[in-house]
Parts: sequence; structure tokens; C-alpha cells
Amino acid sequence: MGDVEASSANPKRAQGRLCSICGAKRPALKRPKTLEEICRECFYNVFEDEIHKVIVENNLFKCGERVAIGASGGKDSTVLAYVLSELNRRHSYGLDLFLLSVDEGITGYRDDSLETVKRNEIQYGLPLKIVSYKDLYGWTMDEIVKAIGLKNNCTFCGVFRRQALDRGAALLKADKLVTGHNADDIAETVLLNILRGDIARLSRCTYITTGEDGPIPRCKPFKYTYEKEIVMYAYFKKLDYFSTECIYSPNAYRGFAREFIKDLERIRPRAILDIIRSGENFRISTFTRMPEQGTCKRCGYISSQKLCKACLLLEGLNRGLPKLGIGRTKGHNGVNKDDEQQKISHSREKGSSLQSKQCGTLDF
Ligand code: SF4
Ligand code: ZN
Ligand code: ZN
Repeated sequence: MGDVEASSANPKRAQGRLCSICGAKRPALKRPKTLEEICRECFYNVFEDEIHKVIVENNLFKCGERVAIGASGGKDSTVLAYVLSELNRRHSYGLDLFLLSVDEGITGYRDDSLETVKRNEIQYGLPLKIVSYKDLYGWTMDEIVKAIGLKNNCTFCGVFRRQALDRGAALLKADKLVTGHNADDIAETVLLNILRGDIARLSRCTYITTGEDGPIPRCKPFKYTYEKEIVMYAYFKKLDYFSTECIYSPNAYRGFAREFIKDLERIRPRAILDIIRSGENFRISTFTRMPEQGTCKRCGYISSQKLCKACLLLEGLNRGLPKLGIGRTKGHNGVNKDDEQQKISHSREKGSSLQSKQCGTLDF
């Protein structure tokens, strides 16, 4: 909770000063997004009101919809479940909310975090559905890592999770799936897409709703919510969440982008919102070829290829050729066909870049 304490208002300096919003109470914290010194109640209000505003202005939900909350037990999805049920009650959204968790089969990590989600089910009174890789694909991540080692494990996990969430949401007959991706996650993805030169994904990764042409649209109500504020909110509200990192988490490129954004935020808190704004304002060239949408011949899941990425990876695992789905074949002009295919498939499955990120400590 170092972040929370570091960002809290200095009690000595704050003496005599009053909350810059209500002007009545002593400030309890310095708001990371604006650096205003405010009291706890005003923090809860601005935090929740901003999310409500984002939901209303972007028409994220319709009255009567069944909404599945992707719940990992981590801070983002726990706060999302809590705030969404509060707002649903307070503003009469008329939503049926559910928790949806994916059990990747990672001993010592997911089994523990799922215990948190099971407690959240009771605490918030939201029905919980758990779908597992073992049931869906016949493999746990522990078994996959045993077979393929610690390289590319997150590619398997990311592809399987994306589909598992869709399948779980379909079992719940959900109209929408919401995820806890926050402003820092989105800024980080914008930056990574710039660093990779992936212009096609650059503008899409900032969409608040994606997959409207797919089986179940996904929304990110925390698109403008700062990670530090989510941590503060969870801390002050004493929410029950799990904060351990995945034991197979890679310490890679994304980590550096994350640190860079945190450094920028320290100097200028608005930097996170400005990076998102930049991503939103990029335009894809009209010459960019967008592939035709289709369905996987084997499982029926959305895919631009004959077989979806999950089926391809699974076939590789089952045949003892784990590199099959991530193999690198050169095309006639030296272009990496797999990279090309992957890029096209990402263009197809609108907004998939965020979901396919290597999660590390991130929620899905
Ligand atoms: Fe899966 Fe995330 Fe762990 Fe990678 S870090 S294996 S994507 S849970
Ligand atoms: Zn106040
Ligand atoms: Zn398939």
C-alpha cells in the first residue's frame, strides 16, 4: 500500500486546510489524477461519479441487459464489480450482473485468487461462473508450461483466455462482458503499439467497446480511471482482493513501457490521459486491408482464418508440436507469414490487442 500512503495528503501540511471539494472536512488524500487534496467521502464520490459519467456518455449498457464482469480476484476487477453493483443500484441501470472467472489451472496463483472471487460472490451478492482451461481445452496452464517451458506461455494463455471469457459469457447468456482494464493499461498499450509500429491496432486499442460485430461486445468502464485511484479506493473501502503476480509472468517489454508511464505520471499526472487521447486521434489509412470475418471450421469461434488461433495452438499441443500455432514461416517475399496472419487476425477481431496482452499483474 506504499502508493496509497505516498499519495495521501501530508497530515502536517494539511492541518488547517480543508477538502478542496466540499470545503468542510479535513483532506485525507491527494488525488493522483488531479493532485487535489480531498476528504475520503469526496474521493468516493468523484471516483464513482466519473465512472458513472463514462458509462452514460458512452451508452455502455441498456436497461435489462445481462452483464458478465470478468473477475480475476485482482484489484481492478474487484473494484469494478463493487462499483458497478453500487452504480447499478444507485442509478437504476436495470442490469443483471454476474461474475465470470477463468481458471487457467495455475497452482499457487489462480487457485488462490479464485478463492477471493468466491468470497466476492457472497460479499456483493453476484452469481459466479467459473470456466476452466482444463474443461474447455483439456490442458491446464501448469501442464502447458510443463510441455512448452516458460517461453510463449502467455501467448497460449492470452488466446485461450479471450475465448474462454466469450464462452463463459455465452453460458451466462450475457449481452455484454466488462473488463477491469484501466487508464494506465490503455496508455501502456497505446505506447506498445507505437513502439511496435502497429498502427492498425493503435487507434483500436483505445475503443471503450469492442467486438460489437462478434458474439459478445466487451466494454472497459475504467478506461479513464487511474490505477493508483483504483488501489486507493480498494484500500480505503477495505475491499477483499488478491495481489500476487502470476508465477509464470514474464518480465518483458511491457514492464518497461509500464515503468515509463509511471515515471511520466510522477512528473505530470495528465500524461496518462494525454497518451490515451493521442491513441484515440490516430487514424488508420484507408488503404489498410481489413480481412473478411468468418468462423473457425473446428469450434465455430470468430476467426479470419480457417482455424482460429486457439484451435491452432491446441492442435500443436495435442500433437506434441507446441510451436505449431506460433511457428514462424517465411512468405515468398521474406515477410513473416505468421506475423502477417496474426496482424490480420487482430485487425479482424476488433480491439483484441488489450485482451491479448501478457497480463502479468493485470486483470483481464
Ligand atoms: Fe497467463 Fe497472465 Fe500468467 Fe501469462 S502472466 S501465464 S497470460 S496468467
Ligand atoms: Zn470533501
Ligand atoms: Zn477454433
